[in-house]
Amino acid sequence: MLFPTYQRYDIRAARGEGAWLWDEAGRCWLDFTSGLAVCNLGHCHPRVTEAVQRQLETLWHVSNLFHIPLQEEVASVLTEASGLGAVFFCNSGAEANEAAIKLARKAARERREIERPKIITFEGSFHGRTLATLTATGQEKVKKGFAPLPEGFVTVPFGDLEAVKRAADDHAAAVMMELVQGEGGVRPADPAFVAELSRFCKEREILFIVDEVQTGMGRTGSLFAFERYGVTPDVVTLAKGLGNGIPVGAMMARPDLALVFGPGSHASTFGGNPVAMAAARAVLREIRRPELLENVRVQGERLLASLRDHLKGHPSVKEVRGLGLMVGIELAEEAAPVIRRARERGLLVLPAGPRVVRLLPPLIVTEEMVDRAVEILSDSVEALGVAGR
Ligand code: PMP
Repeated sequence: MLFPTYQRYDIRAARGEGAWLWDEAGRCWLDFTSGLAVCNLGHCHPRVTEAVQRQLETLWHVSNLFHIPLQEEVASVLTEASGLGAVFFCNSGAEANEAAIKLARKAARERREIERPKIITFEGSFHGRTLATLTATGQEKVKKGFAPLPEGFVTVPFGDLEAVKRAADDHAAAVMMELVQGEGGVRPADPAFVAELSRFCKEREILFIVDEVQTGMGRTGSLFAFERYGVTPDVVTLAKGLGNGIPVGAMMARPDLALVFGPGSHASTFGGNPVAMAAARAVLREIRRPELLENVRVQGERLLASLRDHLKGHPSVKEVRGLGLMVGIELAEEAAPVIRRARERGLLVLPAGPRVVRLLPPLIVTEEMVDRAVEILSDSVEALGVAGR
């Protein structure tokens, strides 16, 4: 048997193409989950498939004791696009954040002589399930049962600069945040808060780490969400959409920080594997196309505006919010019945906490698909009202 770690939908997934997913019996759904912000280019994108197939016939894996030209190539695309100079490749979001935490601690110790470095994170955040990343995560349910947890983390309310300042004593090494909290309920950070936080971190030499595992790779309408916020982080983490489903993660940092890690400081057997790099190279080529990012902004705005319009004044709807194609509907009650009803009507969406319906359509989504999804969701929310009366 499998560990019962997931509360699964009643669908036996068999095949995917673009925004569509089929089960074993041939039933088809419009997929507004993108495998949880992973298949951003849609399922089985032909040019990514072709790139991976070609690589499978060339070289699957060598150890990181070899130079792997594809790693250098993908790193140069990422550094050119991000303005950050150095990249470490790994295989998941948690692993990328773990690398960022280790880098921040080592940098604080070596450059600022901080003996007990502290990392400040936010309530509602999600950074992963390894011991350090779940400790960084600002959700109690993720930590429950796993004590003793690593030391050196403090969590403050999301958006509260004064709380950051109070927490930022002489031991503060880094602030780590998502610009739009994903698992925490699709909550975009206030741009003024982000700008002030970034300035404060610079003044105090505290590293500003942005977790773009969910917001990155075009999801918010630019390759990285930090571009939309007009800030330059010191460290950025990526995973999910970077391989469109082939496992690959990355930690990017300011070039001077690269020298904090030397041979033996950190490693990952599979990190930067040629097959993963071939996927990432193909994905980056597609996502950086201006028409695609334009589509994210246009369809994202259409989705948000249309949902707001259809759900306006509904007693069960508290707020519709989002950035790009990362959209949440916060309800005054459980989201599960709405998600279930949408699924029965042919649309796949996700929860983000108990009361938020989360939409993560692929970036290739069309106007017709957006309109169809809004119609199904309006109907699903409406049914909730009827059932509750
Ligand atoms: N950070 C964020 C913002 C995430 O949304 C997630 C996964 N939902 C992670 C980190 C962890 O990624 P992974 O599951 O690949 O370890």
